[in-house]
Amino acid sequence: MDTGTLSEIGKLLVLQEHDVRIRQIERELRDIPERKKGEEQRLATHQADAAKADDHQKGRQAAIKDLELEVASKREQILKLRRQQVDLKTNKEFQAIDSEIKSVESAIAGLEDKELELMALLEEANQLLAASKRELADEASVVKRDVVAWDQRAAALEAEVATLRAQRDAAAALVQQKAWLALYQRVFSRKDNALVPIEGGVCGGCHLQLPPYVVHEMKKQGTLVTCNFCGRLLYER
Ligand SMILES: [Zn+2]
Repeated sequence: MDTGTLSEIGKLLVLQEHDVRIRQIERELRDIPERKKGEEQRLATHQADAAKADDHQKGRQAAIKDLELEVASKREQILKLRRQQVDLKTNKEFQAIDSEIKSVESAIAGLEDKELELMALLEEANQLLAASKRELADEASVVKRDVVAWDQRAAALEAEVATLRAQRDAAAALVQQKAWLALYQRVFSRKDNALVPIEGGVCGGCHLQLPPYVVHEMKKQGTLVTCNFCGRLLYER
């Protein structure tokens, strides 16, 4: 193979090395916002859980408060009945009020039993709320750290890709065969790589056996041959 041709291929290979790395970085940069969004969605799920646990706990507190109000009003009722008893004339009337008081007292006892059950449920709700707040705080710090890390990664990649693009342009400027450069760029825009070696008569891109005339053509001076299967440009290592 002609050394001039080899060196043109060599220049294209340097260019391709840069282009492949640039493409990798661009892909990674494109994925970063999606990854950050995923982190934030995870946090939102924990926030929703904590809000739900908070509502649940408040609901139980409110139920206990209602019961307490009901008990207080029944106690008030008993006091009122007792005051009424003072002015009563007959034993029969007295006993009638007495039995009314007993029935209110038994209603209070029932409410107080219910309150004990509700207190146990409130305790459960308190523990659930505390656990979900702890999880939320842990998750928030993880997400915060991860988002900062993604931002730093993005900034580092932006800087790297800017340098690589400058190096890539310099490498492209060194290629004298502008038609080859244009061909390379056209193929690279469609494929993962544009310039591949032939090994044992097989295309290094699509791994298909090339017809002998293609291999023969490639060995000619000053020609750039494309694989007739995948369209990549071929060179001999
Ligand atoms: Zn091929």
